[in-house]
Amino acid sequence: MRTKLMPQKLVVVSLVYWVLLTYMVAALLWWFIALEKQNRDITQIRIAELMKDDPSFETKYEAIIKAQKRKTTQYIGEGSTFLALILLGAVFVYRATRRQLKLSQQQQNFMMAITHELKTPIAVTQLNLETLQKRKLDEEKQQKLINNTLQEANRLNSLCNNILLASQLDAGNYLRGEEEVNLSDLAEGCVDDFRTRFPQRQIHEAIGASLYLNGEPLLLQMLVNNLLENALKYSPKEKPVTIALAEVNDKIVLTVSDEGQGIPAGEKKRIFEKFYRAGDENTRKSKGTGLGLYLCSKIAENHKGYISVTDNSPSGSSFTVTFPLV
Ligand code: ADP
Repeated sequence: MRTKLMPQKLVVVSLVYWVLLTYMVAALLWWFIALEKQNRDITQIRIAELMKDDPSFETKYEAIIKAQKRKTTQYIGEGSTFLALILLGAVFVYRATRRQLKLSQQQQNFMMAITHELKTPIAVTQLNLETLQKRKLDEEKQQKLINNTLQEANRLNSLCNNILLASQLDAGNYLRGEEEVNLSDLAEGCVDDFRTRFPQRQIHEAIGASLYLNGEPLLLQMLVNNLLENALKYSPKEKPVTIALAEVNDKIVLTVSDEGQGIPAGEKKRIFEKFYRAGDENTRKSKGTGLGLYLCSKIAENHKGYISVTDNSPSGSSFTVTFPLV
């Protein structure tokens, strides 16, 4: 439904746009032809008024032709300026409209994703609690259901945090605290948390000790969590995920790598855009909102750093965040 609606909208907008643009260019051309015709007629009348036996006939004739040429040059100059301005405006409007439509499509996708993302944990939690309430389960099964419920609650929590932070950052009213953060400890904490949540996954770590950064622990934690979450989400269960933190050339470098499907070259820049999710919305299986990496790039920026993605070897992706050293 959604994917069919957008191109239709785009067709109407494009049609109106091209009709208006063609009309403007045609009107400009018509204006030039009309003025040029008028110029020629005036020249003819002025030549006809000249007396053939006038001794200064040649000089006057040349002056009339010169005036005609001057007028033509003036019309061409003015016409070209107008045409350039119209085309410049047209390019600007075209790009702005396309960007707006794309954003609104991504927002629609986001709304669909978020509805799903919010409803699933609630439904799972409800079902698990009802099962625990109605049935006498053995200890192991009980623990499994409780763990599963906790995982869903965690997911819901990080989703709410992401949405809240994105809206605060967009509104420009996020007041970031500034303190010396032990990034090594913070990253270790995140890894421990993920190991508890995903005991079946291998998370390799190479975290250098005592690396400090000036910033906000809550934001930095979200950054590490989002990168680890993605690495686990977009790689098969049997493949490891690696997190590394080190000081390289007077910078703190955090890398999170996986051995998943990787990211096509054409998508590498776009995945940091708000609401952007790679691939086709209808066939995609993974859950998500397209906010995680947007927030990661904003958080990195907020800490005077930057984020980039490269291909991992032999497969998958490697996300690198580089921060200045304290
Ligand atoms: P979400 O995961 O909620 O869709 P993100 O902003 O975290 O949103 O990621 C944007 C997109 O980038 C994802 O939809 C996915 O297509 C791609 N992506 C992110 N991390 C990875 C990764 N580690 N491997 C492959 N693709 C990734």
